[in-house]
Amino acid sequence: MTNREIHVRFCALGKENRRIVNELVAMLPEIDRLKIYKDYGCASVYEYACKYAGLSYAVVQKALWVEEKLVEAPKLKEALKEAGVHKVALFATIANAQNDAALADKVKHMSKPALQELSKELRGNSVKKVSVELDAEMQFLFGKIKEKLGIDGDEEALKAIFKAHLAHKDAMKQSIKKVQNIPGDEKSKNKKQLSEAENPADAQPTKSHPIKAPSGEHIPVSRYIPAKIRKKAISKTNGKCAYPNCTKSYEHLHHQDYFAHTRNHKNLIPLCKIHHEFMHNGVVAVENEPKKWRIDLGGKICKFDVEYRRARQNK
Ligand SMILES: [Zn+2]
Ligand SMILES: [Zn+2]
Repeated sequence: MTNREIHVRFCALGKENRRIVNELVAMLPEIDRLKIYKDYGCASVYEYACKYAGLSYAVVQKALWVEEKLVEAPKLKEALKEAGVHKVALFATIANAQNDAALADKVKHMSKPALQELSKELRGNSVKKVSVELDAEMQFLFGKIKEKLGIDGDEEALKAIFKAHLAHKDAMKQSIKKVQNIPGDEKSKNKKQLSEAENPADAQPTKSHPIKAPSGEHIPVSRYIPAKIRKKAISKTNGKCAYPNCTKSYEHLHHQDYFAHTRNHKNLIPLCKIHHEFMHNGVVAVENEPKKWRIDLGGKICKFDVEYRRARQNK
């Protein structure tokens, strides 16, 4: 066998192995409920699963826990056989009759890292740390503001600034006007600080970001994007993923208008791998401005998304 043939065989067996394990695990709740294990000399379903299928204690425990949680989500429960207990378990505590069908679709078609991220967002703890590098001038200004506010801690001071901004948008507008009247270099620096205070997610480190070459783009070579257009798209986000609050570097360029449909390279959006998966799995309410994107499980899956899903899963 050539190296390639060995690899292909290994992957095929791996896929088959996952399918078998998923089916075994899906059988456990019934074995437990009917106490079938007792007829075969085992004290518990854990012992039975280990003895006859080599399943670990943790996997059995997860399977029984998921079964208990999914009373109101029969479709997600059914998806266990295809997607496996680890993916389904990510949504066990938030599944309900309303999101059952949508979640079943997602666990069958999305990768585990993307599902972990989706689960986090749905559970509302998608808050990510944003780090901002301040140069000497900005540190001085920030120090001044802290002094005025009478707050020592950086985080507390920033919180106070943001809260004050939200409460008094007009006052902020006034201060921006004032800043615009400051002459020269000072003006641009102050402006920058204000815009960062206004929109923390936009704040960029002062260091320039290396623009990485995209890896593993799902767009075939025939849809080659000219370097100039690619560079322009990436520069819009300074090489970062455009998804709200994502701090990762971009990995893929997503065609907002679907290349296969429009045959052009307009509206290219740099995204990390996970958020690119989001875009093709109907979990984002898409607005023209990426900043306004938000999670919405009710998104439609068009034929280009189906193609994307197939290509990703067959990789
Ligand atoms: Zn895409
Ligand atoms: Zn991202």
